[in-house]
Amino acid sequence: MDIKTKIDFLIERVQKQNPTADVEKIRAAYECANAAHEGQKRKNGDPYIIHPVSVAEIIVEMGLDTDSICAGLLHDCMEDTDFQYAQIEEKFGTSVAELVDGVTRLGRLHYSKEQEQMEDLRKMLIAMAKDIRVILIKLADRLHNMRTIQFMTEEKQRSKALETMEIYAPIAHRLGMQRVKWELEDLSLQRLDPVGYQEIVDGLERQRPEHEEMLERIKKTVGKKLNDSGIKNSISGRVKHIYSIYRKMYAQNKSVDEIYDICAVRVIVESVADCYNVLGYVHDLYKPIPGRFKDYISTPKPNGYRSLHTTVIGRSGVPFEVQIRTKEMHEMAEYGVAAHWKYKQGVEKSDNEETYAWIRQLLESQQDTEAEDFIKAIKVDLFSDEVFVFTPKGDVVNLPAGSTPIDFAYGIHSAVGNRMVGCKINGRIQPIDSVLQNGDIVEVLTSKETHGPKRDWLNIIKSSEARNKIKQWFKRECREENIEQGREDLNRELRSNLLYSHFMESPEIQENVLKKFGYPSLEELYAAIGYHGVTVTKVINKVKDEVIRARKRENVRQPLTERVKHTHSESGVIVEDIGGNCKVKFARCCTPVPGDDIVGYITRGYGISVHRKDCVNVKNSNPDDRDRWVKVSWDENHIEVKGRFSTALQITTNDRMGVMNDVLQTLANNHINIRDFNGKTLSEGYGIINIVIDVTGLAQLDALTKRLRSLRGVVNVVRQTA
Ligand code: MN
Repeated sequence: MDIKTKIDFLIERVQKQNPTADVEKIRAAYECANAAHEGQKRKNGDPYIIHPVSVAEIIVEMGLDTDSICAGLLHDCMEDTDFQYAQIEEKFGTSVAELVDGVTRLGRLHYSKEQEQMEDLRKMLIAMAKDIRVILIKLADRLHNMRTIQFMTEEKQRSKALETMEIYAPIAHRLGMQRVKWELEDLSLQRLDPVGYQEIVDGLERQRPEHEEMLERIKKTVGKKLNDSGIKNSISGRVKHIYSIYRKMYAQNKSVDEIYDICAVRVIVESVADCYNVLGYVHDLYKPIPGRFKDYISTPKPNGYRSLHTTVIGRSGVPFEVQIRTKEMHEMAEYGVAAHWKYKQGVEKSDNEETYAWIRQLLESQQDTEAEDFIKAIKVDLFSDEVFVFTPKGDVVNLPAGSTPIDFAYGIHSAVGNRMVGCKINGRIQPIDSVLQNGDIVEVLTSKETHGPKRDWLNIIKSSEARNKIKQWFKRECREENIEQGREDLNRELRSNLLYSHFMESPEIQENVLKKFGYPSLEELYAAIGYHGVTVTKVINKVKDEVIRARKRENVRQPLTERVKHTHSESGVIVEDIGGNCKVKFARCCTPVPGDDIVGYITRGYGISVHRKDCVNVKNSNPDDRDRWVKVSWDENHIEVKGRFSTALQITTNDRMGVMNDVLQTLANNHINIRDFNGKTLSEGYGIINIVIDVTGLAQLDALTKRLRSLRGVVNVVRQTA
């Protein structure tokens, strides 16, 4: 068929699928691609344009939209010619340009053949594509290349086949595109194990008359039964695809003639109820093999596949598989994600919300959950907590999202990180604290002259690997500096917690603290704090524990009445039972305000923490900590001095537009200072607003709560606890 006829056929088919499709745009894209590839030839001598047109045919077959078809026609333009993004955008719009650009980018990835990297590569490919259509076009591209691979060198054939088997077929599977997956697998197998492949082809050819006869018989028997029962159906029989037989042969260590369930029958009916009815009839006609029935309708596969499967024994004693599903399930099984577009164009509107819930889950589209917007903004955010980048050699390095070139350098080797002086991202010099993006090629610039990592790198990096390695370096390299730094840090914290003299003047406390962390001397402890081997907070907490313990020992010998000393505090709270001046803070879990019943807790890090008596953390506190709870009360004199107290409220709304605004307005009208305000939408139309505000006390808070409750759209207002 000549190329002109081919494109006419293609357009005719598009029109049939979707009478409103913009076929002029498709024709223009073809003309444009044709001009761009003018004079280029494929390996087999055909004009190059055959390839993009064939890719477009596959895309039409998948049922994708006009922009995807255009992008399919233009997909090799940016790569192979000097056609630029801007030109495509001008002629065909941003959507087409971005699709072509996305496919081109994926084409530039290079794959190493390390087995353990394959999952990372698959993830990266999906993460990079952003728009799911890019992946679908890339799959179409790969499918056509695999169909015409015989003209490449044998080595190239093998490496492409391996890549297809390891990366593209699993992606097709993940997207539920069985038909593409099977063909990719069979084409790859043919190159990877030509002998094994041929053995199966020959075996199937030998058995073909039997298979055909058997399938005919089953179709007739089942068809008659269903027609008699008034169930509309269409039945097809097939031999399973070659790679699945191949896998069975290897798993069971059998030859092709020993594999039995090679034949499969598919029954397509009109309703889910009919699926189960058909199952009943099939089990009446043939004996089912126990344990082989699978209900993927009630429990769909993770990729959205739905069907009933059963394996039964035929009249001749040969088992065969029966798959039963509705038309919709069938489309989904064959075309997976792509079926979405197919339905979209179809005349009948199917229940989109229901059917495509799984795609939404799969893609985790964060903003646009509206069905209409969804299609426009499909973003693949499956792996948003990871980022995948390349070494200049093309090895993939997988890092936590937000990682920097420093993380990357330590991911390669600690020696690389320790000598890092700069970096290049995609060939350009960039700051070493830049945030890496998927697909970036990162090169670390090193120097032997450097003095090693900087301390502030510890605040920049994301990966624990880099953190450990940097700490290691500090531990080894600069003992003197560490001791100085550690001494300074610890003393400062001891002083600010009023523990300095306790610690310095009590050899017993010192010894217990050192023993707890396993350091032989104070100097070693300083050094450890210096290189971040132990945090200063941990040490302070231990010191505090020891001080409390020591004080308790002393207190036992004193009469109880002498222990009670009232301490005024600027915080507006009187702490009983504790000597000396002590710091008071209000617990964040329950944010007490004057008027609340309160209780105090001796914290490990910062003085007394004041809770409401009804706070869950008080109720659930560890009985071993009983000694830490102390009596506290509001100090009327100082409440006035302090004036305002922060507290947190949680407001549940039914997500009415503007309810946030009403809440803010109410707070403003009551002259309430807002410290923090954030809202989020929950599912089922509910929303949560969390606010932190300053109030004078319980009376004002209660009045405000009442006002907020009376707002339209507000379902509930509660004090926040924990
Ligand atoms: Mn191509």
